[in-house]
Amino acid sequence: MKLNRRIFNKQLLISAGGLTLVNSLPFNLQVKSEKKGLGIALVGLGSYSSGQLAPALQETSECHLAGIVTGTPAKEKQWAQQYDIPQKNIYNYQNFDDIKDNDDIDIVYVVLPNAMHAEFSIRAAKAGKHVICEKPMAMNVEECDAIIQACNDADVKLSVGYRLQSEPYTQEVKSMVREKTFGEVRYVQSDAAYISRGNPDQWRLNIDLSGGGALMNMGVYAIQSNIYGSGMNPISVTAQEYSTRPEYFKKTDETITAQFEFPNGATGNMMTSHNIRANRHYTSCDNGWFELQPANSYGPLKGRRSDGTLIEFPHRSQQALQMDDFARHIAQGTVNRAPGEMGKRDMIIVEAIYKSIRNGGTRVDLDLGNLGIVSEK
Ligand code: NAD
Repeated sequence: MKLNRRIFNKQLLISAGGLTLVNSLPFNLQVKSEKKGLGIALVGLGSYSSGQLAPALQETSECHLAGIVTGTPAKEKQWAQQYDIPQKNIYNYQNFDDIKDNDDIDIVYVVLPNAMHAEFSIRAAKAGKHVICEKPMAMNVEECDAIIQACNDADVKLSVGYRLQSEPYTQEVKSMVREKTFGEVRYVQSDAAYISRGNPDQWRLNIDLSGGGALMNMGVYAIQSNIYGSGMNPISVTAQEYSTRPEYFKKTDETITAQFEFPNGATGNMMTSHNIRANRHYTSCDNGWFELQPANSYGPLKGRRSDGTLIEFPHRSQQALQMDDFARHIAQGTVNRAPGEMGKRDMIIVEAIYKSIRNGGTRVDLDLGNLGIVSEK
């Protein structure tokens, strides 16, 4: 594994954890040791960055909030004060590329409207920074390919903001599927939906900025859930769209259902909506079942099994777990739980779902092989 010297030094500080070593280092490195692990710059300081990611970065052990990139000058001062971010680590969308010269920043986390994911992920890779790109990875498969290519060319790591891949309830589902705790999987149901009543001009309802409605937003969770709930990529999909508030959802999908076929003959069903409240994962196997409800929210999640056992874990920030996982992947070569190929695979499925709907609900074959399936054992 290739580790650059700076990351190696930071890693030494994390893993040694001993005062003797830290005390023997120069002052500037000692300061850095308080800011643990790799430095992350958040790009886009909207509700997810301010409400979830920045607070989570106060709980991480392998990475810390080192910089920000914002198009809103008023946010610069506020964030600098709140999170002790030096002026030299603050960028706007124009001078963002200068981040290449900033050794405090190891990872750029793109938290912008979907239409901006590809541009900023590619610019980050070209600046030599590792990339976390929020979900959905991009507007289409072509953009996903361009992001993956840019990261490969720059020899940087890439991950998609799939926070659930790193949290223990989802890991337990993956483990029960892998271990065949209740036998072979026969059916998976996943629902990821909420009711949108906010500003009709928000970017999520603007097809040019979002690339789609519920499917591009919560739908990727439902797709993910069907895949980790079965342990397989689907071989076909058939989909339907429902619209009851066309005056509000003018150009973006309101509710979508889709059915999957899996290679072992199992079937799956998913529902996503901007006009229904639902948040559930259910896997039925030959000898029993397990479910999470809620399954997709920020937690605490909740789960149970057909044998009466409750699925319970202490609550921790999903985003902290996710970012620590990625930092560990970079610095220690551990598994990348949400690689770019996973985001691309989900976008192939999104495109197939829209295609099926356009064609009046016909079946669309998928040839995914094991694309995006991460072996965690
Ligand atoms: P938001 O609207 O709250 O924030 C968007 C940010 O982008 C704002 O800071 C805004 O100023 C900036 N921006 C720049 N150009 C813009 C433009 N042309 N139009 C609108 N905003 C613009 O959105 P958010 O909820 O923070 O979502 C950002 C990204 O994070 C999205 O891709 C979303 O899917 C993703 N997200 C992921 C999760 C998750 O659980 N993984 C949760 C929420 C959001």
